[in-house]
Amino acid sequence: MPHDSWLRCAAALHNDVYLLLDHQLRISEQLGTLTDVDTTDLSGQMLTDCVAPDGMAALETTLSALLIRRLPGEVTTLWPNGNQTHWKAMPTPTAGLVLSRVRERQAGLGHDSLVSMIDALPVMVASIDNELRYRFVNASYEAFFGKTRGTLCGQHIEVILGEATWKRLTPFYERVLSGERVQYEETLPLKDGSVLECRVQYVPDMAADGSVKGFFAAIEDVSEYGATIRLLKQIHHIVHNRPDEHDSTIDDLLTLALDFLGLEIGIVSQVSGDIYKVRHVVSQQSGLEPGAQFSLGETFCCLTLEADDVLGTVHAGENPLFQGHPCYQRFPLESYIGVPLIINGEVWGTLNFSSPKARQMSFTALEIELVRLVGDAVEHLITRYLTSERWAKEREAINHLALTDALTGLPNRARIDRALDEAITRRYAISLAIIDIDFFKRINDRHGHDVGDRVLRGVADTLAEGVREGDLIGRLGGEEFMLLMHATPLFTARRVAERLRRAVESFSLPMDPEPPLSVTISLGLTQGRQDDDAASLYQRADHALYMAKHRGRNRIEVL
Ligand code: GH3
Ligand code: MG
Ligand code: MG
Repeated sequence: MPHDSWLRCAAALHNDVYLLLDHQLRISEQLGTLTDVDTTDLSGQMLTDCVAPDGMAALETTLSALLIRRLPGEVTTLWPNGNQTHWKAMPTPTAGLVLSRVRERQAGLGHDSLVSMIDALPVMVASIDNELRYRFVNASYEAFFGKTRGTLCGQHIEVILGEATWKRLTPFYERVLSGERVQYEETLPLKDGSVLECRVQYVPDMAADGSVKGFFAAIEDVSEYGATIRLLKQIHHIVHNRPDEHDSTIDDLLTLALDFLGLEIGIVSQVSGDIYKVRHVVSQQSGLEPGAQFSLGETFCCLTLEADDVLGTVHAGENPLFQGHPCYQRFPLESYIGVPLIINGEVWGTLNFSSPKARQMSFTALEIELVRLVGDAVEHLITRYLTSERWAKEREAINHLALTDALTGLPNRARIDRALDEAITRRYAISLAIIDIDFFKRINDRHGHDVGDRVLRGVADTLAEGVREGDLIGRLGGEEFMLLMHATPLFTARRVAERLRRAVESFSLPMDPEPPLSVTISLGLTQGRQDDDAASLYQRADHALYMAKHRGRNRIEVL
Protein backbone atom coordinates (compact mmCIF):
# COMPACT_ATOMS: atom_id res chain seq x y z
CA MET A 1 0.00 0.00 0.00
CA PRO A 2 1.47 3.45 -0.95
CA HIS A 3 2.57 5.52 2.00
CA ASP A 4 -0.06 8.25 1.74
CA SER A 5 -2.99 5.86 1.23
CA TRP A 6 -1.91 3.95 4.37
CA LEU A 7 -1.97 7.25 6.23
CA ARG A 8 -5.38 8.01 4.75
CA CYS A 9 -6.70 4.68 6.04
CA ALA A 10 -5.29 5.45 9.47
CA ALA A 11 -6.89 8.88 9.43
CA ALA A 12 -10.25 7.43 8.36
CA LEU A 13 -10.08 4.81 11.09
CA HIS A 14 -9.66 7.47 13.75
CA ASN A 15 -12.12 9.70 11.98
CA ASP A 16 -9.71 12.57 12.26
CA VAL A 17 -8.61 15.07 9.71
CA TYR A 18 -5.14 16.47 9.37
CA LEU A 19 -4.50 19.83 7.69
CA LEU A 20 -1.10 21.27 6.83
CA LEU A 21 -1.22 25.08 6.94
CA ASP A 22 1.26 27.47 5.52
CA HIS A 23 2.44 30.57 7.33
CA GLN A 24 -0.68 32.47 6.16
CA LEU A 25 -3.02 29.82 7.55
CA ARG A 26 -3.83 28.54 4.04
CA ILE A 27 -4.48 24.82 3.74
CA SER A 28 -1.68 23.37 1.63
CA GLU A 29 -2.35 19.67 2.20
CA GLN A 30 -5.12 17.56 3.69
CA LEU A 31 -5.36 14.05 5.07
CA GLY A 32 -8.82 12.64 5.81
CA THR A 33 -12.08 14.45 5.17
CA LEU A 34 -14.20 16.90 7.05
CA THR A 35 -17.65 15.37 6.80
CA ASP A 36 -19.37 18.60 7.80
CA VAL A 37 -17.76 20.60 4.99
CA ASP A 38 -19.14 20.43 1.44
CA THR A 39 -15.85 20.40 -0.45
CA THR A 40 -13.85 17.30 0.23
CA ASP A 41 -10.57 18.77 -0.97
CA LEU A 42 -9.76 21.97 0.86
CA SER A 43 -6.28 22.48 -0.54
CA GLY A 44 -5.53 26.10 -1.35
CA GLN A 45 -8.34 27.50 0.79
CA MET A 46 -7.90 29.76 3.81
CA LEU A 47 -8.58 27.84 6.99
CA THR A 48 -10.87 30.49 8.42
CA ASP A 49 -12.99 30.44 5.24
CA CYS A 50 -13.80 26.78 5.26
CA VAL A 51 -13.45 25.21 8.68
CA ALA A 52 -16.03 26.13 11.29
CA PRO A 53 -15.49 29.79 10.43
CA ASP A 54 -16.90 31.26 13.65
CA GLY A 55 -14.82 29.20 16.00
CA MET A 56 -11.66 29.31 13.93
CA ALA A 57 -11.84 33.04 13.44
CA ALA A 58 -11.72 33.33 17.21
CA LEU A 59 -8.61 31.17 17.23
CA GLU A 60 -6.88 32.92 14.38
CA THR A 61 -4.80 35.03 16.71
CA THR A 62 -3.73 31.96 18.67
CA LEU A 63 -2.77 30.11 15.49
CA SER A 64 -0.84 33.13 14.17
CA ALA A 65 0.99 33.35 17.49
CA LEU A 66 1.92 29.67 17.21
CA LEU A 67 3.29 30.29 13.73
CA ILE A 68 5.39 33.14 15.02
CA ARG A 69 6.67 31.25 18.06
CA ARG A 70 7.49 28.24 15.91
CA LEU A 71 8.36 25.67 18.47
CA PRO A 72 8.32 22.53 16.31
CA GLY A 73 6.83 19.51 18.11
CA GLU A 74 4.94 21.58 20.70
CA VAL A 75 1.28 20.44 20.69
CA THR A 76 -1.39 22.96 21.57
CA THR A 77 -5.01 21.91 22.12
CA LEU A 78 -7.67 24.24 20.78
CA TRP A 79 -11.39 24.18 21.54
CA PRO A 80 -13.13 26.25 18.90
CA ASN A 81 -16.54 24.54 18.98
CA GLY A 82 -17.44 23.79 22.53
CA ASN A 83 -16.69 20.38 23.94
CA GLN A 84 -17.61 17.96 21.23
CA THR A 85 -14.54 18.32 19.01
CA HIS A 86 -11.18 19.77 19.57
CA TRP A 87 -8.16 20.46 17.47
CA LYS A 88 -4.51 19.93 18.07
CA ALA A 89 -1.95 22.25 16.49
CA MET A 90 1.75 21.54 16.04
CA PRO A 91 4.25 23.77 14.24
CA THR A 92 6.23 21.92 11.54
CA PRO A 93 10.01 22.22 11.22
CA THR A 94 9.38 24.19 8.02
CA ALA A 95 7.18 27.27 8.05
CA GLY A 96 3.78 25.78 8.69
CA LEU A 97 1.40 24.22 11.15
CA VAL A 98 -0.25 20.82 11.29
CA LEU A 99 -3.76 20.97 12.55
CA SER A 100 -5.71 17.81 13.37
CA ARG A 101 -9.31 17.50 14.42
CA VAL A 102 -10.24 14.95 17.04
CA ARG A 103 -13.83 13.88 17.44
CA GLU A 104 -14.12 13.42 21.18
CA ARG A 105 -17.14 11.17 21.40
CA GLN A 106 -15.80 8.70 18.89
CA ALA A 107 -12.28 8.88 20.17
CA GLY A 108 -13.51 8.20 23.74
CA LEU A 109 -15.63 5.21 22.88
CA GLY A 110 -13.36 3.18 20.69
CA HIS A 111 -13.77 -0.58 20.78
CA ASP A 112 -11.08 -1.05 23.42
CA SER A 113 -12.51 1.60 25.71
CA LEU A 114 -15.94 0.06 25.37
CA VAL A 115 -14.64 -3.39 26.30
CA SER A 116 -12.68 -1.98 29.28
CA MET A 117 -15.78 -0.21 30.43
CA ILE A 118 -18.01 -3.29 30.17
CA ASP A 119 -15.32 -5.39 31.85
CA ALA A 120 -15.28 -3.00 34.78
CA LEU A 121 -19.01 -3.41 35.38
CA PRO A 122 -19.97 -5.42 38.49
CA VAL A 123 -22.72 -6.97 36.35
CA MET A 124 -22.34 -10.04 34.13
CA VAL A 125 -22.82 -8.94 30.53
CA ALA A 126 -23.12 -11.15 27.46
CA SER A 127 -23.94 -10.45 23.87
CA ILE A 128 -25.71 -13.38 22.23
CA ASP A 129 -26.63 -13.83 18.59
CA ASN A 130 -30.02 -14.88 17.27
CA GLU A 131 -28.90 -18.52 17.15
CA LEU A 132 -28.15 -18.30 20.88
CA ARG A 133 -24.39 -18.34 20.52
CA TYR A 134 -22.13 -16.12 22.59
CA ARG A 135 -20.69 -13.18 20.69
CA PHE A 136 -19.12 -11.47 23.65
CA VAL A 137 -18.96 -11.81 27.45
CA ASN A 138 -17.42 -9.40 29.96
CA ALA A 139 -14.93 -10.13 32.73
CA SER A 140 -17.66 -10.65 35.41
CA TYR A 141 -19.29 -13.25 33.18
CA GLU A 142 -15.94 -14.98 32.58
CA ALA A 143 -15.26 -15.03 36.32
CA PHE A 144 -18.65 -16.46 37.25
CA PHE A 145 -18.55 -19.30 34.74
CA GLY A 146 -14.81 -19.81 35.14
CA LYS A 147 -14.37 -19.74 31.38
CA THR A 148 -12.51 -17.27 29.20
CA ARG A 149 -14.08 -15.05 26.61
CA GLY A 150 -12.23 -16.99 23.96
CA THR A 151 -13.76 -20.30 25.08
CA LEU A 152 -17.27 -18.95 25.43
CA CYS A 153 -17.55 -16.96 22.20
CA GLY A 154 -19.11 -19.02 19.45
CA GLN A 155 -20.51 -21.60 21.89
CA HIS A 156 -24.23 -22.26 22.13
CA ILE A 157 -25.58 -21.13 25.49
CA GLU A 158 -27.13 -24.55 26.14
CA VAL A 159 -23.62 -26.01 26.30
CA ILE A 160 -22.67 -23.56 29.04
CA LEU A 161 -25.90 -23.37 31.06
CA GLY A 162 -26.85 -27.04 30.81
CA GLU A 163 -30.00 -28.46 29.26
CA ALA A 164 -32.33 -27.95 32.20
CA THR A 165 -31.54 -24.24 32.66
CA TRP A 166 -31.59 -23.68 28.92
CA LYS A 167 -35.07 -25.23 28.64
CA ARG A 168 -36.33 -23.23 31.59
CA LEU A 169 -35.06 -19.99 30.08
CA THR A 170 -36.16 -20.69 26.49
CA PRO A 171 -39.43 -18.70 26.81
CA PHE A 172 -37.38 -15.65 27.82
CA TYR A 173 -35.02 -16.12 24.85
CA GLU A 174 -38.01 -16.38 22.51
CA ARG A 175 -39.43 -13.16 23.87
CA VAL A 176 -36.22 -11.15 23.57
CA LEU A 177 -35.54 -12.50 20.07
CA SER A 178 -38.99 -11.31 19.07
CA GLY A 179 -37.86 -7.80 20.00
CA GLU A 180 -39.24 -7.57 23.56
CA ARG A 181 -37.20 -6.34 26.51
CA VAL A 182 -37.28 -9.04 29.19
CA GLN A 183 -36.64 -8.83 32.91
CA TYR A 184 -36.90 -11.58 35.52
CA GLU A 185 -35.37 -12.62 38.82
CA GLU A 186 -34.12 -16.05 39.68
CA THR A 187 -32.17 -18.06 42.18
CA LEU A 188 -29.33 -20.15 40.81
CA PRO A 189 -27.97 -23.01 42.90
CA LEU A 190 -24.15 -22.90 42.91
CA LYS A 191 -21.69 -25.76 43.11
CA ASP A 192 -20.59 -24.84 46.66
CA GLY A 193 -24.17 -25.29 47.90
CA SER A 194 -24.90 -21.58 48.13
CA VAL A 195 -27.36 -19.81 45.86
CA LEU A 196 -27.01 -16.77 43.69
CA GLU A 197 -30.02 -14.51 43.60
CA CYS A 198 -29.93 -12.51 40.41
CA ARG A 199 -31.86 -9.99 38.43
CA VAL A 200 -31.65 -10.68 34.70
CA GLN A 201 -32.32 -8.28 31.84
CA TYR A 202 -32.38 -9.17 28.14
CA VAL A 203 -32.28 -6.27 25.69
CA PRO A 204 -32.79 -7.02 21.98
CA ASP A 205 -29.93 -6.05 19.64
CA MET A 206 -31.81 -4.54 16.74
CA ALA A 207 -30.36 -4.14 13.24
CA ALA A 208 -31.04 -0.96 11.27
CA ASP A 209 -33.75 -2.79 9.25
CA GLY A 210 -35.63 -3.65 12.47
CA SER A 211 -34.64 -7.32 12.55
CA VAL A 212 -33.25 -8.77 15.78
CA LYS A 213 -29.55 -9.66 15.49
CA GLY A 214 -29.41 -11.14 18.95
CA PHE A 215 -29.62 -9.72 22.45
CA PHE A 216 -27.59 -8.36 25.33
CA ALA A 217 -27.92 -10.09 28.69
CA ALA A 218 -27.14 -8.25 31.93
CA ILE A 219 -27.16 -10.44 35.04
CA GLU A 220 -26.92 -8.59 38.34
CA ASP A 221 -26.09 -10.34 41.61
CA VAL A 222 -28.82 -9.24 44.02
CA SER A 223 -27.97 -11.79 46.75
CA GLU A 224 -27.03 -9.03 49.19
CA TYR A 225 -30.24 -7.20 48.42
CA GLY A 226 -32.21 -10.44 48.97
CA ALA A 227 -30.33 -11.12 52.22
CA THR A 228 -31.10 -7.58 53.40
CA ILE A 229 -34.81 -7.95 52.69
CA ARG A 230 -34.89 -11.29 54.54
CA LEU A 231 -32.99 -9.77 57.46
CA LEU A 232 -35.43 -6.86 57.72
CA LYS A 233 -38.35 -9.29 57.66
CA GLN A 234 -36.76 -11.38 60.42
CA ILE A 235 -36.08 -8.33 62.59
CA HIS A 236 -39.68 -7.23 62.14
CA HIS A 237 -40.94 -10.72 62.99
CA ILE A 238 -38.75 -11.00 66.10
CA VAL A 239 -39.69 -7.57 67.42
CA HIS A 240 -43.41 -7.67 66.74
CA ASN A 241 -44.51 -11.28 67.04
CA ARG A 242 -43.01 -12.36 70.34
CA PRO A 243 -43.99 -9.83 72.98
CA ASP A 244 -43.58 -12.21 75.92
CA GLU A 245 -40.08 -13.52 75.30
CA HIS A 246 -37.95 -10.50 76.16
CA ASP A 247 -34.59 -12.19 76.76
CA SER A 248 -34.66 -14.66 73.88
CA THR A 249 -35.94 -11.96 71.52
CA ILE A 250 -32.91 -9.75 72.17
CA ASP A 251 -30.59 -12.77 71.89
CA ASP A 252 -32.12 -13.63 68.51
CA LEU A 253 -31.58 -10.07 67.29
CA LEU A 254 -27.94 -10.26 68.39
CA THR A 255 -27.48 -13.59 66.57
CA LEU A 256 -29.02 -12.26 63.34
CA ALA A 257 -26.85 -9.15 63.34
CA LEU A 258 -23.70 -11.14 64.16
CA ASP A 259 -24.32 -13.40 61.15
CA PHE A 260 -24.85 -10.43 58.86
CA LEU A 261 -21.79 -8.56 60.10
CA GLY A 262 -19.57 -11.64 60.24
CA LEU A 263 -18.51 -10.91 63.84
CA GLU A 264 -18.35 -13.11 66.94
CA ILE A 265 -19.57 -11.31 70.05
CA GLY A 266 -22.85 -9.41 70.36
CA ILE A 267 -23.65 -7.51 73.55
CA VAL A 268 -26.43 -5.35 74.96
CA SER A 269 -24.90 -3.45 77.85
CA GLN A 270 -26.43 -1.24 80.49
CA VAL A 271 -24.35 1.73 81.50
CA SER A 272 -24.69 3.65 84.73
CA GLY A 273 -21.92 6.06 85.69
CA ASP A 274 -18.66 4.24 84.99
CA ILE A 275 -20.25 0.79 85.30
CA TYR A 276 -20.70 -1.20 82.13
CA LYS A 277 -22.91 -4.21 82.79
CA VAL A 278 -23.47 -6.97 80.24
CA ARG A 279 -27.25 -7.55 80.08
CA HIS A 280 -27.44 -9.80 77.01
CA VAL A 281 -24.62 -11.57 75.25
CA VAL A 282 -24.37 -13.91 72.30
CA SER A 283 -20.86 -15.16 71.80
CA GLN A 284 -18.99 -17.94 70.08
CA GLN A 285 -16.43 -17.55 72.83
CA SER A 286 -17.25 -18.94 76.23
CA GLY A 287 -16.74 -17.00 79.42
CA LEU A 288 -18.79 -13.88 78.92
CA GLU A 289 -22.12 -14.07 80.73
CA PRO A 290 -24.97 -11.66 81.39
CA GLY A 291 -24.23 -9.83 84.64
CA ALA A 292 -20.50 -9.42 83.91
CA GLN A 293 -19.33 -5.95 84.84
CA PHE A 294 -16.52 -3.73 83.54
CA SER A 295 -15.40 -0.20 83.96
CA LEU A 296 -16.97 1.81 81.10
CA GLY A 297 -13.61 3.49 80.46
CA GLU A 298 -12.13 0.10 79.63
CA THR A 299 -14.64 -0.63 76.86
CA PHE A 300 -14.81 0.67 73.29
CA CYS A 301 -18.38 1.62 74.15
CA CYS A 302 -17.18 4.72 75.98
CA LEU A 303 -15.95 5.94 72.57
CA THR A 304 -19.35 5.12 71.07
CA LEU A 305 -21.15 7.05 73.81
CA GLU A 306 -18.79 10.01 73.27
CA ALA A 307 -19.47 9.84 69.52
CA ASP A 308 -23.21 9.65 70.24
CA ASP A 309 -23.65 7.62 67.07
CA VAL A 310 -22.66 4.38 65.39
CA LEU A 311 -18.90 3.95 65.74
CA GLY A 312 -16.77 1.15 64.42
CA THR A 313 -13.45 -0.10 63.19
CA VAL A 314 -12.41 -3.30 61.47
CA HIS A 315 -8.81 -3.05 62.56
CA ALA A 316 -8.50 -1.42 65.99
CA GLY A 317 -4.73 -1.86 65.99
CA GLU A 318 -4.45 0.41 62.96
CA ASN A 319 -7.07 2.94 63.98
CA PRO A 320 -5.69 5.97 65.89
CA LEU A 321 -8.92 6.33 67.89
CA PHE A 322 -8.89 2.70 69.06
CA GLN A 323 -5.26 1.55 69.13
CA GLY A 324 -4.24 3.53 72.23
CA HIS A 325 -7.48 2.82 74.08
CA PRO A 326 -7.37 0.89 77.41
CA CYS A 327 -9.90 -1.58 75.94
CA TYR A 328 -7.44 -2.49 73.19
CA GLN A 329 -4.79 -3.14 75.85
CA ARG A 330 -7.14 -5.30 77.92
CA PHE A 331 -9.22 -7.18 75.33
CA PRO A 332 -7.73 -8.21 72.00
CA LEU A 333 -10.67 -6.98 69.93
CA GLU A 334 -9.76 -5.91 66.40
CA SER A 335 -13.23 -5.41 64.93
CA TYR A 336 -15.89 -3.45 66.76
CA ILE A 337 -19.09 -1.62 65.91
CA GLY A 338 -21.46 -0.14 68.49
CA VAL A 339 -24.36 2.25 68.91
CA PRO A 340 -25.72 4.03 72.01
CA LEU A 341 -29.09 2.86 73.34
CA ILE A 342 -31.23 5.83 74.34
CA ILE A 343 -34.34 5.26 76.40
CA ASN A 344 -36.68 8.09 77.41
CA GLY A 345 -34.12 10.58 76.12
CA GLU A 346 -31.31 9.24 78.32
CA VAL A 347 -28.36 6.96 77.67
CA TRP A 348 -29.39 3.49 78.82
CA GLY A 349 -26.46 1.48 77.45
CA THR A 350 -25.02 0.24 74.18
CA LEU A 351 -25.51 -2.37 71.52
CA ASN A 352 -22.17 -3.61 70.22
CA PHE A 353 -20.64 -6.30 68.07
CA SER A 354 -17.01 -7.27 68.07
CA SER A 355 -14.48 -9.88 67.13
CA PRO A 356 -10.86 -10.62 68.03
CA LYS A 357 -10.25 -11.10 64.30
CA ALA A 358 -9.81 -8.10 62.02
CA ARG A 359 -12.57 -8.04 59.44
CA GLN A 360 -11.37 -7.81 55.86
CA MET A 361 -13.96 -5.35 54.59
CA SER A 362 -14.77 -2.01 56.18
CA PHE A 363 -18.32 -1.70 57.46
CA THR A 364 -20.61 -0.80 54.57
CA ALA A 365 -23.25 1.92 54.77
CA LEU A 366 -25.82 -0.89 54.81
CA GLU A 367 -24.17 -2.59 57.79
CA ILE A 368 -23.96 0.70 59.68
CA GLU A 369 -27.66 1.27 59.04
CA LEU A 370 -28.37 -2.29 60.17
CA VAL A 371 -26.59 -1.68 63.50
CA ARG A 372 -28.63 1.50 63.93
CA LEU A 373 -31.83 -0.39 63.11
CA VAL A 374 -31.10 -3.26 65.51
CA GLY A 375 -30.24 -0.60 68.14
CA ASP A 376 -33.69 0.94 67.59
CA ALA A 377 -35.30 -2.49 67.87
CA VAL A 378 -33.46 -3.22 71.14
CA GLU A 379 -34.46 0.19 72.53
CA HIS A 380 -38.05 -0.62 71.58
CA LEU A 381 -37.89 -4.04 73.27
CA ILE A 382 -36.31 -2.67 76.45
CA THR A 383 -38.86 0.15 76.63
CA ARG A 384 -41.65 -2.38 76.14
CA TYR A 385 -40.19 -4.62 78.83
CA LEU A 386 -39.70 -1.76 81.32
CA THR A 387 -43.22 -0.52 80.66
CA SER A 388 -44.76 -3.95 81.11
CA GLU A 389 -42.71 -4.46 84.27
CA ARG A 390 -43.93 -1.12 85.64
CA TRP A 391 -47.49 -2.01 84.70
CA ALA A 392 -47.20 -5.38 86.39
CA LYS A 393 -45.96 -3.68 89.57
CA GLU A 394 -48.74 -1.11 89.42
CA ARG A 395 -51.31 -3.83 88.81
CA GLU A 396 -49.93 -5.74 91.74
CA ALA A 397 -50.08 -2.63 93.94
CA ILE A 398 -53.68 -1.93 92.88
CA ASN A 399 -54.66 -5.55 93.48
CA HIS A 400 -53.00 -5.41 96.86
CA LEU A 401 -54.87 -2.22 97.75
CA ALA A 402 -58.17 -3.68 96.58
CA LEU A 403 -57.70 -6.74 98.78
CA THR A 404 -56.27 -5.04 101.87
CA ASP A 405 -58.02 -3.40 104.77
CA ALA A 406 -56.79 0.20 104.98
CA LEU A 407 -56.98 0.55 108.79
CA THR A 408 -55.22 -2.64 109.88
CA GLY A 409 -53.27 -3.72 106.78
CA LEU A 410 -54.87 -7.18 107.07
CA PRO A 411 -56.56 -8.91 104.12
CA ASN A 412 -60.05 -7.46 103.68
CA ARG A 413 -63.43 -9.08 103.29
CA ALA A 414 -63.04 -9.51 99.49
CA ARG A 415 -59.75 -11.31 99.93
CA ILE A 416 -61.13 -13.55 102.69
CA ASP A 417 -64.19 -14.42 100.61
CA ARG A 418 -61.97 -15.35 97.65
CA ALA A 419 -59.72 -17.50 99.87
CA LEU A 420 -62.75 -19.18 101.41
CA ASP A 421 -64.23 -19.99 97.98
CA GLU A 422 -60.91 -21.42 96.79
CA ALA A 423 -60.48 -23.52 99.94
CA ILE A 424 -64.02 -24.91 99.65
CA THR A 425 -63.64 -25.87 95.97
CA ARG A 426 -60.36 -27.59 96.68
CA ARG A 427 -62.03 -29.47 99.54
CA TYR A 428 -59.27 -28.87 102.04
CA ALA A 429 -60.01 -29.86 105.61
CA ILE A 430 -60.56 -26.25 106.60
CA SER A 431 -61.39 -24.69 109.94
CA LEU A 432 -62.95 -21.27 110.22
CA ALA A 433 -63.11 -18.91 113.18
CA ILE A 434 -65.02 -15.63 113.40
CA ILE A 435 -63.51 -13.33 116.01
CA ASP A 436 -65.27 -10.33 117.59
CA ILE A 437 -63.93 -7.84 120.13
CA ASP A 438 -66.00 -7.81 123.28
CA PHE A 439 -67.77 -4.61 124.31
CA PHE A 440 -65.89 -2.61 121.74
CA LYS A 441 -68.58 0.03 121.57
CA ARG A 442 -67.68 1.04 125.13
CA ILE A 443 -64.11 1.87 124.10
CA ASN A 444 -65.32 4.17 121.38
CA ASP A 445 -67.81 5.69 123.74
CA ARG A 446 -65.35 6.25 126.59
CA HIS A 447 -62.14 7.10 124.77
CA GLY A 448 -63.24 8.25 121.35
CA HIS A 449 -63.09 6.78 117.87
CA ASP A 450 -59.34 7.37 117.44
CA VAL A 451 -58.49 5.27 120.45
CA GLY A 452 -60.96 2.67 119.14
CA ASP A 453 -58.97 2.60 115.86
CA ARG A 454 -55.69 2.17 117.73
CA VAL A 455 -57.16 -0.74 119.67
CA LEU A 456 -58.38 -2.27 116.39
CA ARG A 457 -54.86 -2.00 114.94
CA GLY A 458 -53.29 -3.42 118.10
CA VAL A 459 -55.68 -6.40 118.11
CA ALA A 460 -55.09 -6.92 114.35
CA ASP A 461 -51.29 -7.00 114.88
CA THR A 462 -51.64 -9.38 117.82
CA LEU A 463 -53.84 -11.75 115.79
CA ALA A 464 -51.50 -11.55 112.75
CA GLU A 465 -48.50 -12.42 114.93
CA GLY A 466 -50.37 -15.32 116.50
CA VAL A 467 -51.46 -17.19 113.36
CA ARG A 468 -49.32 -19.81 111.65
CA GLU A 469 -47.82 -19.35 108.24
CA GLY A 470 -50.31 -20.50 105.64
CA ASP A 471 -53.33 -19.57 107.73
CA LEU A 472 -55.20 -16.45 106.74
CA ILE A 473 -56.37 -13.79 109.18
CA GLY A 474 -58.40 -10.88 107.86
CA ARG A 475 -60.76 -8.12 108.95
CA LEU A 476 -64.38 -8.70 108.04
CA GLY A 477 -65.35 -5.16 109.00
CA GLY A 478 -66.00 -3.23 112.25
CA GLU A 479 -64.39 -5.11 115.14
CA GLU A 480 -64.83 -8.50 113.52
CA PHE A 481 -62.05 -10.70 112.14
CA MET A 482 -61.95 -14.08 110.49
CA LEU A 483 -59.32 -16.81 110.63
CA LEU A 484 -59.13 -19.42 107.86
CA MET A 485 -57.00 -22.48 108.67
CA HIS A 486 -56.10 -24.89 105.86
CA ALA A 487 -55.77 -28.64 106.42
CA THR A 488 -56.34 -28.24 110.14
CA PRO A 489 -58.32 -30.68 112.28
CA LEU A 490 -60.68 -29.18 114.81
CA PHE A 491 -58.61 -29.86 117.92
CA THR A 492 -55.59 -28.09 116.36
CA ALA A 493 -57.82 -25.23 115.27
CA ARG A 494 -59.11 -24.95 118.79
CA ARG A 495 -55.55 -24.68 120.15
CA VAL A 496 -54.79 -21.89 117.69
CA ALA A 497 -58.00 -20.09 118.66
CA GLU A 498 -57.16 -20.40 122.35
CA ARG A 499 -53.67 -19.02 121.73
CA LEU A 500 -55.15 -15.99 119.93
CA ARG A 501 -57.70 -15.41 122.70
CA ARG A 502 -54.91 -15.35 125.28
CA ALA A 503 -52.66 -13.20 123.16
CA VAL A 504 -55.39 -10.52 122.82
CA GLU A 505 -56.14 -10.80 126.53
CA SER A 506 -52.48 -10.02 127.22
CA PHE A 507 -52.38 -7.11 124.78
CA SER A 508 -52.85 -3.61 126.20
CA LEU A 509 -52.75 -0.17 124.67
CA PRO A 510 -50.68 2.37 126.69
CA MET A 511 -52.87 5.34 127.60
CA ASP A 512 -50.48 7.56 129.64
CA PRO A 513 -51.24 8.98 132.11
CA GLU A 514 -54.37 6.79 132.34
CA PRO A 515 -53.96 3.04 132.84
CA PRO A 516 -53.45 0.96 129.69
CA LEU A 517 -56.47 -0.32 127.80
CA SER A 518 -57.14 -4.03 127.42
CA VAL A 519 -59.77 -5.93 125.45
CA THR A 520 -60.91 -9.49 125.06
CA ILE A 521 -62.25 -11.40 122.08
CA SER A 522 -64.88 -14.06 121.58
CA LEU A 523 -64.41 -16.73 118.90
CA GLY A 524 -66.89 -18.92 117.03
CA LEU A 525 -65.12 -21.93 115.54
CA THR A 526 -66.28 -24.59 113.10
CA GLN A 527 -64.86 -27.12 110.66
CA GLY A 528 -65.75 -27.53 107.00
CA ARG A 529 -68.08 -30.39 106.15
CA GLN A 530 -68.61 -32.36 102.96
CA ASP A 531 -71.75 -30.49 101.87
CA ASP A 532 -70.66 -27.00 103.00
CA ASP A 533 -70.50 -23.97 100.80
CA ALA A 534 -68.93 -20.69 101.92
CA ALA A 535 -72.19 -19.32 103.23
CA SER A 536 -73.13 -22.37 105.34
CA LEU A 537 -69.63 -22.56 106.81
CA TYR A 538 -69.69 -18.86 107.63
CA GLN A 539 -73.15 -19.06 109.19
CA ARG A 540 -72.14 -21.91 111.50
CA ALA A 541 -69.03 -20.02 112.68
CA ASP A 542 -71.15 -16.90 113.22
CA HIS A 543 -73.64 -18.89 115.20
CA ALA A 544 -70.84 -20.32 117.37
CA LEU A 545 -69.66 -16.72 117.95
CA TYR A 546 -73.14 -15.72 119.02
CA MET A 547 -73.05 -18.61 121.52
CA ALA A 548 -69.67 -17.43 122.86
CA LYS A 549 -71.07 -13.93 123.37
CA HIS A 550 -74.13 -15.35 124.99
CA ARG A 551 -72.14 -17.59 127.33
CA GLY A 552 -70.09 -14.72 128.79
CA ARG A 553 -67.58 -13.57 126.09
CA ASN A 554 -63.74 -13.94 126.13
CA ARG A 555 -64.24 -17.57 125.13
CA ILE A 556 -64.39 -20.00 122.24
CA GLU A 557 -67.45 -21.96 121.17
CA VAL A 558 -67.33 -24.71 118.58
CA LEU A 559 -70.15 -25.87 116.30
P1 GH3 B 1 -70.19 -7.28 121.71
O1 GH3 B 1 -69.28 -7.72 122.83
O2 GH3 B 1 -71.54 -7.81 121.80
O3 GH3 B 1 -69.57 -7.55 120.40
O4 GH3 B 1 -70.31 -5.73 121.91
P2 GH3 B 1 -69.69 -4.62 120.99
O5 GH3 B 1 -69.82 -3.31 121.62
O6 GH3 B 1 -68.32 -5.00 120.60
O7 GH3 B 1 -70.62 -4.79 119.75
P3 GH3 B 1 -71.38 -3.79 118.89
O8 GH3 B 1 -71.68 -4.50 117.56
O9 GH3 B 1 -72.52 -3.26 119.60
O10 GH3 B 1 -70.40 -2.60 118.65
C1 GH3 B 1 -69.39 -2.65 117.70
C2 GH3 B 1 -68.84 -1.28 117.64
O11 GH3 B 1 -67.68 -1.23 116.83
C3 GH3 B 1 -69.79 -0.30 117.00
C4 GH3 B 1 -68.96 0.59 116.13
O12 GH3 B 1 -69.02 1.94 116.55
C5 GH3 B 1 -67.56 0.11 116.39
N1 GH3 B 1 -66.81 0.13 115.20
C6 GH3 B 1 -67.07 -0.51 114.02
N2 GH3 B 1 -66.12 -0.24 113.10
C7 GH3 B 1 -65.22 0.58 113.71
C8 GH3 B 1 -64.02 1.22 113.30
O13 GH3 B 1 -63.55 1.07 112.15
N3 GH3 B 1 -63.38 2.00 114.19
C9 GH3 B 1 -63.84 2.19 115.45
N4 GH3 B 1 -63.15 2.98 116.28
N5 GH3 B 1 -64.96 1.62 115.85
C10 GH3 B 1 -65.66 0.84 115.02
MG1 MG C 1 -69.50 -7.01 116.25
MG1 MG D 1 -68.04 -6.69 119.47
